[in-house]
Amino acid sequence: MATSEPSSDSLQAEFLKNNAQFAADFPDGNLPMPPARHALVLACMDARLHVEKVLGIKNGACHCVRNAGGRASDDALRSIAISQRLLGTKEVHIVHHTDCGMLTFTNEQLASKIKEDLGVDVGDRDFLPFANLEKSVLDDIRTVSESPFVAPGTQVHGYIYEVETGKLRVVG
Ligand SMILES: [Zn+2]
Repeated sequence: MATSEPSSDSLQAEFLKNNAQFAADFPDGNLPMPPARHALVLACMDARLHVEKVLGIKNGACHCVRNAGGRASDDALRSIAISQRLLGTKEVHIVHHTDCGMLTFTNEQLASKIKEDLGVDVGDRDFLPFANLEKSVLDDIRTVSESPFVAPGTQVHGYIYEVETGKLRVVG
């Protein structure tokens, strides 16, 4: 609702207020477009995974690509290709996490729910859920490493973030 005045208690109003404070003393207006650390982070969208804070990523340092699960989906690979070919990133870091929503459903269950709630048949669409956290990281490391859109020899690192402790565990 971009054209209407937000009510005072709306999240939009809160966001705009927060942003006014953020922009009031903004020091990063002249950062170059290519990430300074030449790296891309692919992470789950989970609200408890504040990936820049978890990894200590400064503004302008890395590309951060997020989706449900932090999966190496077609669209994630699209972003990696753009990041590498046009903006000079050289390595990929994949972050999945404990208690991930992707562990809680199957494609069949989500397809049923979409059919029930929205009346839409999604066919055999893969929403990329997983049953094993370590395996999902290893699968995505392999998918990125083997993608023809990703530069041969790209270093691909995997991690599991523990939402319970704030700690990061290396996988692979
Ligand atoms: Zn998740």
